[in-house]
Amino acid sequence: MDDTERLHELIAGARRIVAFTGAGISTESGIPDFRSPGGIWTKYQPIYFDDFMSSEEMRREAWRRKFATDETMVKAEPNAGHRALAKLVERGKMSAIITQNIDGLHQRSGIPDAKVIELHGNTTYATCLDCGQRHELAPIKKAFESKGALPVCTKCDGIVKTATISFGQAMPEIQMARAQDETMGCDLFIVLGSSLVVYPAAGFPKIAKRKGAKLVILNREETDQDDDADLVVHAEIGPTLSRVVGVN
Ligand code: NAD
Ligand code: ZN
Repeated sequence: MDDTERLHELIAGARRIVAFTGAGISTESGIPDFRSPGGIWTKYQPIYFDDFMSSEEMRREAWRRKFATDETMVKAEPNAGHRALAKLVERGKMSAIITQNIDGLHQRSGIPDAKVIELHGNTTYATCLDCGQRHELAPIKKAFESKGALPVCTKCDGIVKTATISFGQAMPEIQMARAQDETMGCDLFIVLGSSLVVYPAAGFPKIAKRKGAKLVILNREETDQDDDADLVVHAEIGPTLSRVVGVN
């Protein structure tokens, strides 16, 4: 039996599957992962949350970068990997997708918002850091590029930031708790396209194993947790998953 058949069998035998996705599931949509040479995330030093809050200069720099690199994100469409996971959710096999990604592509592949747990937030819209009000990017971009204006909340005058979790910013409590519950309640935990080095997210596969779930890692290259997995598949996510799930 080859890896694809084994994965097919594990999925067929599972009652409640949870997926954990990283940047690797979106590279086939044209969004570079963290580690790819020259990737948009590797060009800049990160802006820490405290600096964003305390310095108007840093907020300006953050928005400048956002709009300079946003084209890739705006153009990206869900790929075969996203679609295969959506199929598993639709079939009632997969209870949740925990993601480190901020691109919103799982939701765009047709998975209900309630089933996608975003650990690092979402870069396709912005929120007010004081009242939580959602703000769309298009008007912010227009005002920034034409007048150099920084966005201010229309409801409460608070500071508006992309809805992502920055370095030094607290992890979202509700999402962390939900991710933990889902991980503890599944019988198959599948990691896709994550190098599993970013904590606390990288702790989830360990929780799943401790609770008795089977662990599968599907990644192009080795990860630190390959030794703990019941099945490791070193392959491209899209083609592999479409074969396993039977969609394209
Ligand atoms: P990572 O870049 O550390 O690891 C990605 C892994 O996926 C690598 O091991 C790589 O070999 C593998 N990979 C890439 N393309 C693949 C493919 N087509 N098939 C199989 N494997 C493939 O990513 P991470 O662990 O998610 O950490 C990066 C951090 O940066 C995250 O916290 C995330 O928030 C952020 N990020 C997000 C996006 C996005 O939203 N799409 C993109 C880049 C970075
Ligand atoms: Zn507000």
